Amino acid sequence: MNLPIKMTINEIISHLLEAKKILLLCHVSPDGDCIGSLVALGRALQRLNKDVCMASEDKIPGSLRFITEPGEILLTNEITEKFDTAVAIDSGDMQRLGLIGQELFSKADFRINIDHHSSNPLYGDLNLVQPQRAATGEIILDLIFNLGIEIDRSLAEPLYTAIFTDTGGFRFTNTTKDTLNKAALLVGYGASPNLISHEIYENKPLGYFKMLALAFGRFTIDEKICYTWISFDEMAEFGLDFEASEELSTFAKMLENTKMSLVFKQKEENLVKVSLRSQNGYDVAKLAEKFGGGGHKQAAGCTINAPLDVAIKEMLHAAKEVDH
Ligand code: AMP
Ligand code: MN
Ligand code: MN
Repeated sequence: MNLPIKMTINEIISHLLEAKKILLLCHVSPDGDCIGSLVALGRALQRLNKDVCMASEDKIPGSLRFITEPGEILLTNEITEKFDTAVAIDSGDMQRLGLIGQELFSKADFRINIDHHSSNPLYGDLNLVQPQRAATGEIILDLIFNLGIEIDRSLAEPLYTAIFTDTGGFRFTNTTKDTLNKAALLVGYGASPNLISHEIYENKPLGYFKMLALAFGRFTIDEKICYTWISFDEMAEFGLDFEASEELSTFAKMLENTKMSLVFKQKEENLVKVSLRSQNGYDVAKLAEKFGGGGHKQAAGCTINAPLDVAIKEMLHAAKEVDH
């Protein structure tokens, strides 16, 4: 398997070196892995004097702003230019780029897909998809090494953040010796584990804890499935953006004696984002796929176009039905 990957990396590098205008895109509801990977690759290409545009369909969550410079990442709806090359980062399928993101990606003359989701349908002209990697940031680090660019803090910090967030702070089963070796290398290049962990897991407004208290109070265990929910009215009441509810899934999976956790986060009146996590090897990506979503075996997501109570009922029903 090494040879094809190495060949793909070389092909991507020679393409990027020839490209004139490059668009880098991350997925909707961006997380630390896609933003960290986007910023690191974008900065690396800028050092090669490439005309690079980094863009996101949704705005960057407050807890990730420390790895970006103001104005460094545009919103996809601000883009009017055309690009000869577009790169999708950490996006398990094209829809994950968002409506405008997908259109921009499709319109580019050449498309590159860099990701670590096993369900990725290889939608690019070149596809560097490595499901064994804990984070897309690991793949970007390989690319940057191969580009021969010297890694400093401005690249190490976003890449460490990418790996740190997608491994839940090096706790999830995707954390391998290679993951930790890469993280150690990045610390050597100037990433500060304490600063990054503080920015990601601490430094929260008071409303965040009030939101947690409300959602924790709702924890329900039904046939070993733990679930909770939060509405957009409640998020607004606590002065929080939708993105601030994303971490609820990290807590829901801490409950003992459960096999799966489901967190229902209402984004709009009839739009609910569900985060699924499994505890004992059960494949939640398959369950998410039934609702048009996807992800990894242990962590998956989907959106349901229905009111909050209906989404909860439908997903719980499907979750109980699956064969364990
Ligand atoms: P989240 O619950 O948003 O933290 O996502 C967990 C995992 O599922 C991540 O690897 C995401 O890339 C993936 N995921 C989340 N939402 C979706 C979706 N709507 N479609 C496909 N994959 C998703
Ligand atoms: Mn991601
Ligand atoms: Mn990822």
